Amino acid sequence: MQKRRPSHKGLRSCLGCGARDERQTMVRIAATGDRIEVDPTQRLSGRGGYLHRRRDCLERFLNSRVKEFRSLKRRINREERLHIVSSIRERLDSGTSVA
Ligand SMILES: [Zn+2]
Repeated sequence: MQKRRPSHKGLRSCLGCGARDERQTMVRIAATGDRIEVDPTQRLSGRGGYLHRRRDCLERFLNSRVKEFRSLKRRINREERLHIVSSIRERLDSGTSVA
């Protein structure tokens, strides 16, 4: 526990490992209406979830048994998870912003 964080407003829980971290180090996933998509600008409206830019977090997210993600207030089915994870992987593979 660190008490000297400026505020916990910037902290988000990872949908993969569940750890809380600063959102700048994470990838945002936005749920807008029926769509779920990666939000690299962290600016899409709608509810957002966060994932570390780490392969094991992506893996955990993919295999998670969580039925409904609280931060998103909705379920994410397997197909949607695959879609999200593969687009984040593409970004990791392209070598940009691997935190
Ligand atoms: Zn994580």
